[in-house]
Amino acid sequence: QEFRETLEITRISTSDIIEPQRICVCVRKRPLNKQELTKKDLDVVSVPGKGALLVHEPKQKVDLTKYLDNHIFQFDYSFNENATNDQVYNFTAKPLVQSIFEGSMATCFAYGQTGSGKTHTMGGDFTGKQQNSSKGIYALAAQDVFTNINHRRYASLDLSAFVSFFEIYNGKVYDLLNKKAKLRVLEDDRQQVNVVGLEEVYVTKAEEVIKMIQIGSACRTSGQTSANANSSRSHAILQIVLRRKKGALHGKFSLIDLAGNERGTDVSSNDRSTLVETAEINQSLLALKECIRSLGKNSDYIPFRMSTLTKVLRDSFIGEKSKTCMIAMVSPSMSSCEYTMNTLRYADRVKELNGNSKAGGVVKSQEPADTSSEEESVDTSVYDA
Ligand code: ADP
Ligand code: MG
Repeated sequence: QEFRETLEITRISTSDIIEPQRICVCVRKRPLNKQELTKKDLDVVSVPGKGALLVHEPKQKVDLTKYLDNHIFQFDYSFNENATNDQVYNFTAKPLVQSIFEGSMATCFAYGQTGSGKTHTMGGDFTGKQQNSSKGIYALAAQDVFTNINHRRYASLDLSAFVSFFEIYNGKVYDLLNKKAKLRVLEDDRQQVNVVGLEEVYVTKAEEVIKMIQIGSACRTSGQTSANANSSRSHAILQIVLRRKKGALHGKFSLIDLAGNERGTDVSSNDRSTLVETAEINQSLLALKECIRSLGKNSDYIPFRMSTLTKVLRDSFIGEKSKTCMIAMVSPSMSSCEYTMNTLRYADRVKELNGNSKAGGVVKSQEPADTSSEEESVDTSVYDA
């Protein structure tokens, strides 16, 4: 019971939405799932208020409520297990949709361990079996794109929308709208990055985008075995591109369902291909963090060449009109606590720009907190306990 004391439901209304900042970092907690409930796994994450998130980390297994380290984090927004995709969308991606009409290059990332809710949040439930499948951020953004395109405010721009959907696995790009065709990434002498031959489908209404999402999502998960690309080990990138009449780029929104971030801690495997995969994922997540941080610092140097992921998103990290939102997904369960802490530390580093963050600070502890550095590597602190 004590455990759940702070588990208040925070209500936030759309009037709380602030002007989109250049970098917005949010966290979403999912509900305990059936399996966790069956195993009587405990909910160790609470959302006490706007932007705040608490992790009640058990320090020993005997008396769980007695030895807790309560780590507090502060983000732009925090969503508890009752938040809907619509609500999350309104605070995260919706302002970015607006910004691409003003000529911005926007990105929205879903980050977190496998099973934490990235695909649920981005793709929604597209099993297609239920009539009332819940929409994810992809589809909600597509709807707003077409509401705006048809709005008289933007009529004079004469904009058209195009959709691409691709996957990055082991540093290689595969087109999800063209039977996973393997594509090359080329950089020209003006540092423009091109994914050669990427399908860009002209779309005239949200339903057409949703159709593309369904085709791409099915393509993403087809033919998977443990030996080939599992969707949890690849990044999926949906791009909605706005072009002027003669084809000139006006704005672009990239929505990214990132690979699971838990692999860095998986040291049990001796399998070479798994190790390569893991290294690739860690490198790209590290690169991503560095690029967003450079964006936040208004730095001239953006280390986008560090990974294929950041290379193909180069446009989005360059220029004054770039905006990004990261949604860190966390599982509430005690058994995932270490992964959750890693996710939160990463999300905190994305935003924290002056090097003295207090995030994850222990607010109430029976033991001295381990303040050892969790510097630049993605997942090093997991086996601390
Ligand atoms: P990931 O893509 O991060 O691996 P998923 O999005 O596939 O995780 O989520 C794992 C499972 O949890 C799915 O069955 C999904 O429907 C469910 N789930 C995730 N987030 C939520 C949520 N906020 N509410 C209800 N169910 C969720
Ligand atoms: Mg997924």
